[in-house]
Amino acid sequence: MPASPFSLDAAVRLLRKEVAGYQVPIVDLIAAQTEDPFKVLTATILSARTKDEVTAAAARRLFARAENAETLASLSVAEIEQLIFPVGFFRSKAKYLAELPAALARDFGGNVPDTVEELIRLPGVGRKTANLVVTVAFKKPAICVDTHVHRLMNLWGYVQTATPLETEMALRATLPQEYWLEINSLLVAFGQGTCKPRFPHCDRCVLAELCPRTGIIPRKPPVDKKVQPDNASTWRMVSWNVNGLRAVLEKGFLEAFHRLDADIVALQEIKAVPEQLPAAVRSIPGYQAWWHPAKKRGYSGVAVFSRKKPLNVMYGLGREDFDAEGRVLTLEFSDFYFVAAYFPNAQDGLKRLAFKLEFCQAMLTHLNRLAAKKSVLLCGDLNVAHQEIDLANPKANVHNPGFSPEERAGLEEIMQAGYADTFRLFHPEPHRYSWWSYRTAARERNVGWRIDYFLVDAKSQDRVREAEIHDDILGSDHCPVSIAFARR
Ligand code: SF4
Repeated sequence: MPASPFSLDAAVRLLRKEVAGYQVPIVDLIAAQTEDPFKVLTATILSARTKDEVTAAAARRLFARAENAETLASLSVAEIEQLIFPVGFFRSKAKYLAELPAALARDFGGNVPDTVEELIRLPGVGRKTANLVVTVAFKKPAICVDTHVHRLMNLWGYVQTATPLETEMALRATLPQEYWLEINSLLVAFGQGTCKPRFPHCDRCVLAELCPRTGIIPRKPPVDKKVQPDNASTWRMVSWNVNGLRAVLEKGFLEAFHRLDADIVALQEIKAVPEQLPAAVRSIPGYQAWWHPAKKRGYSGVAVFSRKKPLNVMYGLGREDFDAEGRVLTLEFSDFYFVAAYFPNAQDGLKRLAFKLEFCQAMLTHLNRLAAKKSVLLCGDLNVAHQEIDLANPKANVHNPGFSPEERAGLEEIMQAGYADTFRLFHPEPHRYSWWSYRTAARERNVGWRIDYFLVDAKSQDRVREAEIHDDILGSDHCPVSIAFARR
């Protein structure tokens, strides 16, 4: 713990070295690549409440069609929406961007102005955006206070403020001008990479000696390798709803696949038949794959990759209407069954509720039949949050698909039959989710649902050594979930 008040000079010196190897915040990157104030302004508008990689892809698509105010003026709001989706608040941002060329022409001779006071007169430009454009595009002194700057400056006790605007004003009064240009880049990179809003990495933080850590719940340090479940004694298993395998392939799927380093990987919503996929995913070195796509093209479908060849593979649940939708694969190994499933969505107005509940019943019958012989694991997108703790807004979703009383009862019945939710065996804490809506920047705000599970039969719970949610892996609106399961 620090013995003296927080020293910002010391912190900045350490952070300059520390973040040199981090990913550059997207707006700085675009500025470095283009030195074009129009592109910096546009990218900054896109970046609000949006992950950097999403902003980068949206900016690339938009600049390919509109690299200046003139060409942007030729696009309709609907076209801009299509180009920038899924950035947060894409509809409002598309509207602001459509209005931008006229506002620049009318008030600033078609040029991007270089003062905060002028910039905030433009549509969709608040103080944060304006400050960032002034510093990044024009290299003029201003202090951009985003959520990371506001959070970290208060955490360190450098300011005591309630809002980003108050923080900006306090920093204008106290922060030495030599830091104004760089403070946002440093703190954004550090806030994204190490001092994350939830469970910061205090265990590997260069500021550990300086930081007061007031009110902080640090991330658990990595478990000693010697006691961590290792591949020799456990099966590492992953389940991931990829929401379109062809789409996720373009968003780093193979890198994530290898990073997860699993013995068995179950995918849901592959939305493709194997023939539509490149060889790089059809035959991943070291794995064999089994596919159960839906009859309808571009819909549903599951697949399982395994390092070890199973004794037997079963397709579906033996009922035509379920199996036509490519929802279940069961792999039999010598001492367990691995059931990979994509449960139906009850849909708006709970139109498919009856279908889903029948599926739950058929699945329970299937699991019980298998559990009579050996251990059973059920994994996949079950399309239902079990308890209130498993979604960010339970009250607002009581009658919505995925949290209706009937669907929760369907899952409860499976659990009451002895199939335990492995994640909750290890993690009682709230705010752990596996799915976030693409709308309203839900993932950035962690307004999510936990609807992806590994369940294990009652007699085999003691074989589960670890259960995790990998919410740092992007590419889909779901993230992977995993367990380590003891070998016998
Ligand atoms: S990671 Fe921990 S020690 Fe480092 S700045 Fe954040 S709260 Fe402080």
